[in-house]
Amino acid sequence: MSTLFAAGEARAFLDAAIKGDLPDDRGRFGPFGGRYVPETLVPAFERLEKGVHEHLHEAAFQSEFQKELREWVGRPTALTFAPQLSKAWAAEVWIKREDLAHTGAHKINNAIGQALLAKRLGAQRVIAETGAGQHGVAAAAACARVDLPCSVYMGVVDMERQAPNVDRIRRLGAEVIAVESGDKTLRAAIDEALRAWVTDPNGIYYLLGSAVGAHPYPYLVRELQTVIGKEARQQMLDQAGGLPDVAFACVGGGSNAIGLFYPLLGDDVELIGVEAGGTGVGLGQNAATLATGTPGVLQGAYTIILQDDDGQVQETHSISAGLDYSGVGPEHALLQAIGRVKYISATDDEALEALEELCATEGILTALETAHAYAAARKYAQQNPGKRILIGNSGRGDKDMPTLTQYPARIRSHESA
Ligand SMILES: *Cc1c(COP(=O)(O)O)cnc(C)c1O
Repeated sequence: MSTLFAAGEARAFLDAAIKGDLPDDRGRFGPFGGRYVPETLVPAFERLEKGVHEHLHEAAFQSEFQKELREWVGRPTALTFAPQLSKAWAAEVWIKREDLAHTGAHKINNAIGQALLAKRLGAQRVIAETGAGQHGVAAAAACARVDLPCSVYMGVVDMERQAPNVDRIRRLGAEVIAVESGDKTLRAAIDEALRAWVTDPNGIYYLLGSAVGAHPYPYLVRELQTVIGKEARQQMLDQAGGLPDVAFACVGGGSNAIGLFYPLLGDDVELIGVEAGGTGVGLGQNAATLATGTPGVLQGAYTIILQDDDGQVQETHSISAGLDYSGVGPEHALLQAIGRVKYISATDDEALEALEELCATEGILTALETAHAYAAARKYAQQNPGKRILIGNSGRGDKDMPTLTQYPARIRSHESA
């Protein structure tokens, strides 16, 4: 797997990652990451980097952040043993319940952390991008909480597809700015938000939603999301009596996955990230960036992206809007290249099936994004019986009911019994 590096070099990168030495001071994770932005954006990024450096690990900020996580987000989230699923899979299955966090997914950890940072940096208002609307909702809620006005950039195509979230964002007191440019979806929304940021880098804070983009975002978002893995690691020791053999998380931009994996990097735990396999392996049919992509620059970072032979970034497809992105965080690109994390994909159909099975066996309606992790874990269990499996349950599936309703339920065990 680690064809990019000699064994010794891969080991050195892993040791650096475990020690907390990555990214380096240029924002690089080995060859990946960095900051490839237009000259006009450099002062805004430098100002943010300085602010992160000064505040993120400072005691006053951390105690404020931990207090909000406890009292407003509802942390720690539960670690749930799944007895029926364990029986069905001939495995020992544990679930880290980010679906129980405020607003229904892990995204709120990052949103409230950055909103508090915005406040510290003296920002007068916050801007954010959103695709499916989930990050827009989290950002709007967090900004309401810290009393900062918030504008959410959203492509007009997404506004139409995700109308309930547009309404949710507005009710949470934020403004939705319709983006008509470019592909009219997430990528265009990010570009427009960056354009707005340039106009007033001191007054505006840009609250990015995943562990992607130019330095320091992949680092900042990881640091705010590692609460997932830190809690899960301790809960496994306390409740399961030991660490898992393997941990699974779904990967869109990669924030919930890096949050779960990062505190486990130094442990003897196999780590598997699961991307959206969509309807097939062809370009445009999936969002399996790490599984099928190639190196390139996307939105400020050198990472693995889905592009054609001419370097044109490709449209993606996934049944889950949150995994539908043609790039991935640069730290994941490194973790794949050094062979520490394996990245595989699950198809739309496999995700739907896994979602149904989990729902019927454990009474947990998971998000379509998350269902990809279950689909992969289920396959793994078939090939590796008796393993202790940890699954990062990144969010809840209530938001997906309009999609799920189009697919009649296949599991009806109690009705037919
Ligand atoms: C947004 C989202 C994801 C994908 O984002 P990451 O940054 O890859 O974590 C996964 N699961 C849920 C529930 C989401 O809302």
